Amino acid sequence: MLKIDMHTHIIPKHLPDWSVKFGYGHFIHLDHHRPGYARMMQGDKFFREIEANCWDPQLRIDEYERYNTQVQVVCTIPVLFGYAAQPKDGLEMAMFLNDHIADLVARMPRHYVGLGTLPMQDVDLSIAELERCKNIGLKGIQIGSNINQQNLSESIFNPLWQAIEDLNMAVLVHPWEMMGQEEMRKYWLPWLVGMPAETARAICSLIFAGVMERFPGIRFNFAHAGGSFLPTLGRIEHGFHCRPDLVAIDNPINPREYVGKFWVDSATHDDQLFKYVLEMQGSKKITLGTDYPFPLGDLEVGKFIEEMGLEKNIVDDIFCNATLDWLQLPKSMFD
Ligand SMILES: [Zn+2]
Repeated sequence: MLKIDMHTHIIPKHLPDWSVKFGYGHFIHLDHHRPGYARMMQGDKFFREIEANCWDPQLRIDEYERYNTQVQVVCTIPVLFGYAAQPKDGLEMAMFLNDHIADLVARMPRHYVGLGTLPMQDVDLSIAELERCKNIGLKGIQIGSNINQQNLSESIFNPLWQAIEDLNMAVLVHPWEMMGQEEMRKYWLPWLVGMPAETARAICSLIFAGVMERFPGIRFNFAHAGGSFLPTLGRIEHGFHCRPDLVAIDNPINPREYVGKFWVDSATHDDQLFKYVLEMQGSKKITLGTDYPFPLGDLEVGKFIEEMGLEKNIVDDIFCNATLDWLQLPKSMFD
């Protein structure tokens, strides 16, 4: 059985020290302080330690073999989005990261599919880089759930949505720059509470602003099973009905109508929630996604789904068909 993990992060082994190069900011650079490990540093500040499976493609393939998974869809780590950089510098970062992924997928096409990153702080540069991503063989892009705290509902992004639809590129929306993180540093709350809320923020912004309505050809996929959107959909829909003066000002269509029109990944860590998401989305709109290689990820690559006793065709959809459909790839690519 073909198994594709569509939500994994990768980083080049060596990064430029962009803070030095650009002369400002605290961009991530890597300190390879001992074999097989590197410290991600934000300026002088320690961000997180990563292991070689963050950058070593063969090691990743070997680790995935343990879980009978042949293909990884790779994108950058959100801390490298660089949206706060000056636009031309953000473009330079995106190009560097996208070239790295394009080189990988060209060398190992049966194991890797690539998603690019865009300098979202500048829509024109993003459109140019989107076109370049397409030309260098990437199948879609990953964007943040907000762009420097601007919501995806902002009309400034309309030309980009048009370009994404025209170029037929898939979109993964990933939570980052979590709302309220300054106020809730303790207990890892930005990751545990902020991230699911961020993803719901992105989905609601795209629905309520009518982006999904006006650009029905865009294939959106939302990380972590859509965050708190599906679990709180009853409340969101009720709000739409009871306060249309606040909610339905740009799109008169019930948000529930959009469920099943976009994809979500499978990273729920919970059988009960997974069953609910499956009931809501259908198996054709849930893609196996783990957030590998990070500890909050589903690092046994969908084992909990295999153990749920679901019908084989449902599991097959989640493990490969839904992702092939989202990325518009033929299964034969991985034979
Ligand atoms: Zn992720």
